Amino acid sequence: MNHALAPHALPSLPIIGSDQRFPIRRVFCIGRNYAEHAREMGASVDKSAPMFFCKPADAVVSDGADVPYPQATNDLHHEVEMVVALGSAGRDLAPEQASALIWGYGVGLDLTRRDLQAQAKAKSHPWDVAKAFDHSAPVSALRPANEATPGPDTLLQLRVNGELRQQTRLGEMVHGVPEIIAALSQLFELKAGDLIFTGTPAGVAALQRGDHFEAELQGIANLGGRIV
Ligand code: MN
Repeated sequence: MNHALAPHALPSLPIIGSDQRFPIRRVFCIGRNYAEHAREMGASVDKSAPMFFCKPADAVVSDGADVPYPQATNDLHHEVEMVVALGSAGRDLAPEQASALIWGYGVGLDLTRRDLQAQAKAKSHPWDVAKAFDHSAPVSALRPANEATPGPDTLLQLRVNGELRQQTRLGEMVHGVPEIIAALSQLFELKAGDLIFTGTPAGVAALQRGDHFEAELQGIANLGGRIV
């Protein structure tokens, strides 16, 4: 006779200034959303067709937690990104309607097994094994949008062992947040609890065991952790 499994714990993130937590439903990510990063990867930006992929909700790692160096890679890369958290549902939205879904903001790392991604690209395979592995999505505590909203001059940056690795202003994004949400909503019915990684600027590079990372979305959220 089979035993029923106990329900899994719902992944969640802390909320800045609150004892409550934000329940994570899904994690969407956009690729190639900063032109300089697309160039460093040998790719080009397609302004008409944003490119999306997903990570499982339980890949999210909270601020301050150790991140185990993943199996099956020798080239783990950091990608610092603004993370948008959704607080309501919508589908087939226009960009003008999209901002109403935003619950808050954070900063995260879209950790990538770059060697597996290169193999996937070469074989026209999907990116899941490169992007959607365990512990692949460290994310800060979330800042409610009614407290602070990032703008085009907001700085997004990452330091590793104190050294600046990636830095941009959000105005460098190819697809802005309303455009990203609107485009995703043409493909999925978006729901409260969904997180969206909004793309990384240039400067992606390898992380090693023992590295300490500090990501910042200026004035909004901070994320720290260690690769172990
Ligand atoms: Mn990314």
